[in-house]
Amino acid sequence: MGNPDSSSAPGRSFAGLFDPHVHTELAGCAEDITAAAAFARARAMGLAIGFSEHADQLYFPREDYARYEAEAGKLSALGAAARAGHSRFAAYRALVAPLAAQGVPAGLEVEAAEDSPGLALLDEDRGGWDHLLGAVHEFRQGQRPGANLARDFMVQVGKLCSGGVDVLSHPFRVFIRKGREVPKELYRPVAEMLAAHGVAAEINFHTNRPDPEFFALCLELGARLSVGSDAHAMWEVGALGPHLALLRQIGAMERLEEVLWRPCLKR
Ligand SMILES: [Zn+2]
Ligand SMILES: [Zn+2]
Repeated sequence: MGNPDSSSAPGRSFAGLFDPHVHTELAGCAEDITAAAAFARARAMGLAIGFSEHADQLYFPREDYARYEAEAGKLSALGAAARAGHSRFAAYRALVAPLAAQGVPAGLEVEAAEDSPGLALLDEDRGGWDHLLGAVHEFRQGQRPGANLARDFMVQVGKLCSGGVDVLSHPFRVFIRKGREVPKELYRPVAEMLAAHGVAAEINFHTNRPDPEFFALCLELGARLSVGSDAHAMWEVGALGPHLALLRQIGAMERLEEVLWRPCLKR
């Protein structure tokens, strides 16, 4: 797959941008990306990045993740996987530690737990991260006839916000990926919830079509924004052309300092 835009062309300025949403070779869905190569590429481009690996995937063997996927939102299943010795959190911490020593923030992309009010993340794996991205990847009751997907989505976003995530990854993408219409009537309640909890909304084009209207509303209501390449492949590192265009479209380019979220390094 080639790079479809020119954002990685030499000379493009990434000043003021920070992309915390880069995956590593430990993701089950990783293509050719590695943490070391992504860091080297971003540094050569003058782009600040951070890593955010899929927390649910780290509980299970990489090659076998599909077998566990249906259960991965349940804290009980994560606990059982950890007790069975499948957890790869130690491997992820070891992978990012040398990069963290060079100033690269590291965190997780977490989901809402299906069987508890909080995050799908065991207490023992919660500490030591610079940031948490929260994501809705599946509707929990989505396959049931008559399921209220809007409600399902709001419940998950609520759990993520009260669970302490810093950024909501690819808001509303789950509707697009599942072939559903994006419920625009949720733009305001989601933006209000993000603003109330100090959670940033992520502009993310990875298999996604983010709506500028939602991000403009976030700014109006006082929620910050974040840019995420969601890179699973090397060509995606620094592929932020569409993100910059969206920021320009909503009039945010002149005030990136003010509108973009950044991690406060916690370690
Ligand atoms: Zn995601
Ligand atoms: Zn991701």
